[in-house]
Amino acid sequence: MRKINIKTLHEVAPLRLPGYLDAVRARGRVEGDAIILSDEDFDVLRRQYQVPGIASEALGPVAKQRFAVCKSCAQSKEAGFGCFHHIGCCFGRWRSQPESKCPEGKW
Ligand code: SF4
Repeated sequence: MRKINIKTLHEVAPLRLPGYLDAVRARGRVEGDAIILSDEDFDVLRRQYQVPGIASEALGPVAKQRFAVCKSCAQSKEAGFGCFHHIGCCFGRWRSQPESKCPEGKW
Protein backbone atom coordinates (compact mmCIF):
# COMPACT_ATOMS: atom_id res chain seq x y z
CA MET A 1 0.00 0.00 0.00
CA ARG A 2 1.30 3.47 -0.88
CA LYS A 3 0.08 6.60 0.87
CA ILE A 4 0.79 9.68 -1.23
CA ASN A 5 0.29 13.14 0.18
CA ILE A 6 -1.94 15.07 -2.26
CA LYS A 7 0.33 18.14 -2.12
CA THR A 8 3.30 15.91 -2.97
CA LEU A 9 1.32 14.31 -5.77
CA HIS A 10 0.77 17.74 -7.34
CA GLU A 11 4.46 18.57 -6.92
CA VAL A 12 5.60 15.46 -8.78
CA ALA A 13 2.90 15.63 -11.47
CA PRO A 14 5.04 17.92 -13.70
CA LEU A 15 7.65 15.15 -13.68
CA ARG A 16 5.13 12.69 -15.14
CA LEU A 17 3.41 12.45 -18.51
CA PRO A 18 0.07 14.25 -19.01
CA GLY A 19 -2.88 12.44 -17.45
CA TYR A 20 -0.93 11.22 -14.40
CA LEU A 21 -3.07 13.03 -11.82
CA ASP A 22 -6.34 11.78 -13.32
CA ALA A 23 -4.98 8.22 -13.49
CA VAL A 24 -3.90 8.31 -9.84
CA ARG A 25 -7.28 9.73 -8.80
CA ALA A 26 -9.08 7.01 -10.78
CA ARG A 27 -7.17 4.17 -9.09
CA GLY A 28 -6.63 5.67 -5.66
CA ARG A 29 -8.76 6.21 -2.58
CA VAL A 30 -8.67 9.58 -0.81
CA GLU A 31 -8.04 9.51 2.94
CA GLY A 32 -7.70 12.96 4.46
CA ASP A 33 -4.86 14.77 2.72
CA ALA A 34 -3.54 11.61 1.05
CA ILE A 35 -4.37 9.18 -1.73
CA ILE A 36 -3.96 5.48 -1.09
CA LEU A 37 -2.78 3.24 -3.94
CA SER A 38 -2.00 -0.47 -3.99
CA ASP A 39 1.69 -1.27 -4.56
CA GLU A 40 0.75 -2.76 -7.94
CA ASP A 41 -1.14 0.36 -9.07
CA PHE A 42 1.70 2.58 -7.82
CA ASP A 43 4.26 0.65 -9.88
CA VAL A 44 2.03 0.53 -12.98
CA LEU A 45 1.30 4.27 -12.85
CA ARG A 46 4.92 5.18 -12.18
CA ARG A 47 6.07 3.15 -15.21
CA GLN A 48 3.21 4.28 -17.44
CA TYR A 49 3.61 8.01 -16.74
CA GLN A 50 7.37 8.27 -16.29
CA VAL A 51 9.03 10.80 -18.58
CA PRO A 52 11.87 8.81 -20.19
CA GLY A 53 14.43 11.62 -19.85
CA ILE A 54 14.11 11.71 -16.08
CA ALA A 55 13.28 8.08 -15.39
CA SER A 56 15.50 6.65 -12.66
CA GLU A 57 16.57 3.93 -15.10
CA ALA A 58 17.81 6.60 -17.52
CA LEU A 59 19.79 8.61 -14.98
CA GLY A 60 23.57 8.68 -14.94
CA PRO A 61 25.59 6.96 -12.21
CA VAL A 62 25.71 10.01 -9.92
CA ALA A 63 21.98 10.62 -10.17
CA LYS A 64 21.26 6.92 -9.62
CA GLN A 65 23.42 6.94 -6.51
CA ARG A 66 21.64 10.03 -5.20
CA PHE A 67 18.25 8.56 -6.04
CA ALA A 68 19.09 5.43 -4.03
CA VAL A 69 20.09 7.58 -1.03
CA CYS A 70 16.88 9.60 -1.25
CA LYS A 71 14.78 6.44 -1.53
CA SER A 72 16.02 5.26 1.85
CA CYS A 73 16.08 8.68 3.52
CA ALA A 74 13.57 9.60 6.22
CA GLN A 75 13.30 13.06 4.63
CA SER A 76 11.99 11.77 1.30
CA LYS A 77 8.37 12.16 0.34
CA GLU A 78 6.16 9.25 -0.58
CA ALA A 79 5.91 9.66 -4.35
CA GLY A 80 8.90 10.38 -6.55
CA PHE A 81 11.14 10.40 -3.47
CA GLY A 82 11.25 14.17 -3.39
CA CYS A 83 12.77 15.91 -0.40
CA PHE A 84 10.94 17.66 2.43
CA HIS A 85 13.72 20.30 2.42
CA HIS A 86 13.39 21.08 -1.29
CA ILE A 87 10.65 23.60 -2.04
CA GLY A 88 8.97 23.47 -5.43
CA CYS A 89 8.77 20.88 -8.17
CA CYS A 90 11.32 19.21 -10.46
CA PHE A 91 13.28 17.71 -7.58
CA GLY A 92 14.31 14.77 -9.77
CA ARG A 93 15.92 17.09 -12.28
CA TRP A 94 17.56 19.12 -9.52
CA ARG A 95 18.96 15.96 -7.91
CA SER A 96 20.53 14.90 -11.21
CA GLN A 97 22.45 18.17 -11.66
CA PRO A 98 26.08 17.71 -10.52
CA GLU A 99 26.22 21.09 -8.72
CA SER A 100 23.20 20.29 -6.50
CA LYS A 101 23.82 19.33 -2.88
CA CYS A 102 21.65 17.33 -0.48
CA PRO A 103 20.38 19.74 2.21
CA GLU A 104 21.40 17.20 4.88
CA GLY A 105 24.82 16.52 3.34
CA LYS A 106 24.03 12.90 2.43
CA TRP A 107 25.31 13.38 -1.15
S1 SF4 B 1 17.71 14.97 2.81
FE1 SF4 B 1 19.08 14.51 1.11
S2 SF4 B 1 19.04 12.29 0.91
FE2 SF4 B 1 17.26 12.89 2.12
S3 SF4 B 1 15.61 13.12 0.62
FE3 SF4 B 1 16.54 15.13 0.91
S4 SF4 B 1 18.07 15.29 -0.72
FE4 SF4 B 1 17.52 13.12 -0.51
